[in-house]
Amino acid sequence: MRSKSFSSVVKKYKAVLLDSYGVIKNHHGVIMGAANTIEKLRADGKLIRILTNDASKTAAKQVEQFRRLGLKDVVEEEIITSGMMAKHYLQSKKTKGLIAYLGTPAAAQDILDAGMSTIHISEVNGDNIDSIGAMVYLDDEGFDWNKDINRSLNLLRHRSIPAVVANSDQIYPVSRNEVSIATGGIAKLVEATLGREFIHFGKPDSQMFMHAFVQLNAEKKIEKSDILMVGDTLHTDILGGNKFGISTALVLSGNTRTANVKVNIKATGIIPDFICDSIAT
Ligand SMILES: [Mg+2]
Repeated sequence: MRSKSFSSVVKKYKAVLLDSYGVIKNHHGVIMGAANTIEKLRADGKLIRILTNDASKTAAKQVEQFRRLGLKDVVEEEIITSGMMAKHYLQSKKTKGLIAYLGTPAAAQDILDAGMSTIHISEVNGDNIDSIGAMVYLDDEGFDWNKDINRSLNLLRHRSIPAVVANSDQIYPVSRNEVSIATGGIAKLVEATLGREFIHFGKPDSQMFMHAFVQLNAEKKIEKSDILMVGDTLHTDILGGNKFGISTALVLSGNTRTANVKVNIKATGIIPDFICDSIAT
């Protein structure tokens, strides 16, 4: 499959779902030309949603960050995070008791605190373990990797409560050549150890796509065939879009390198409808 210009690919779609990291921004800031493209999409009347597997910040804080980076027109309604989906789940399930979490208190305040009482995993002990109603893997910082991951393991060995993964990503890039283990990778370790599967939020799972679709289609004018998902990662963005039944464009401005793209597609069997160098093209 040859790469095409993004502007030619996006023409026939009414709505565009954009992954954030590796598509709009990277560790340097906004990807060159991305801001112009987003401006052009708006000028052409296309609806935009940004779908991010980031459970560490509210949509409002994400907007602030985009604005600081120079994307002035992004509004809160356009941002859909995996953290929001995890929060909706816990709210609609009416989770009883304290919600234990692995992550920073700031992330817990942003994502979980809305009529829910939370407790950092380091504070779970023999006295309060029976009052815990759910365990949430929220973020990859804000805890002691040695002690607190084991605390979450032991909590789930002792209590039959739902375990929620608010960001399923297993790794995230920290520089051009290095990655760190992300929340989903920590959860995977505990899942494998316990021999059970947790409840995952974030791409490739369908909740964020469904949320975007319901919003975009509020006036019953958008069909799935009118939507293009754009992402840099095959097994989250592209697999998620493909499973949801919308068109997908893989961009080579992030996780997937130009030199590896054919091999990666062949190895994973995850086939995007289009390949573009970046959204700037
Ligand atoms: Mg990405």
